[in-house]
Amino acid sequence: MLQIKDLQVHYGGIHALRGISLEVPDGKIISLIGANGAGKSTTLKAIMGLVPKTSGTILYDKKDITESKTKDIVKDGLILTPEGRRVFPDLTVDENITLGAYVRKDKDGIAKDRKWVFELFPRLEERKWQAAGTLSGGEQQMLAVARSLMGRPKLLMMDEPSLGLAPLIVKNIFGIIKEINQAGVNVLLIEQNAKAALEISDYGYVMETGVVTLSGTGKDLLVNDRVKKAYLGE
Ligand code: ATP
Repeated sequence: MLQIKDLQVHYGGIHALRGISLEVPDGKIISLIGANGAGKSTTLKAIMGLVPKTSGTILYDKKDITESKTKDIVKDGLILTPEGRRVFPDLTVDENITLGAYVRKDKDGIAKDRKWVFELFPRLEERKWQAAGTLSGGEQQMLAVARSLMGRPKLLMMDEPSLGLAPLIVKNIFGIIKEINQAGVNVLLIEQNAKAALEISDYGYVMETGVVTLSGTGKDLLVNDRVKKAYLGE
């Protein structure tokens, strides 16, 4: 379980996180929703040790990782799939996938997970030898997720996995996120597509300008008037 307490982050004079507290219990899908600039990406980056924190604590399985280095956080099983499908365009799909396992030494486990990600994304197996830069946007997004899974995350954090994808592929991606969670991976999800995110989430947090203003089960937030108006376009 991930526990964040009173996390604050400044970028120079910008107070991006003003005391965020949230939890990701084992076995669950948790989503963060909120407008552009609310601080969602910053929250994930702070967890991964990618931005300096002003104050607050981050515990993972009761271990204090607030000041841990990113590479040690990855070794503890926390993995971030960043926004914008950052695949290596000149490497093949297969090479990108192999790179996702770079911190691991368990050859058998790696082979097993490679088989699993190709089962999750048959498209990628068909395009194994193709340069990643020649894939469609949706395929690159799948590759970014597949590569993250090769690190064998205990907690997978995803920043806008559905951004810019066609509706049919969006549906597919959310189905796969559920499948990944059912395979035992905890998920912390950031989404502009609040409806689809809340539909698969056990619990959600709404962020506005650096604070959590509302939280509840995915079901409750989907019928909450404020959420409906501000984020579901109803
Ligand atoms: P988006 O969905 O647009 O990414 P977000 O909710 O993830 O939004 P953040 O990217 O976390 O929001 O940004 C929170 C605030 O911090 C914003 O005001 C943003 O302009 C600012 N910010 C983010 N990154 C930096 C940076 N590297 N330097 C300075 N300010 C930053």
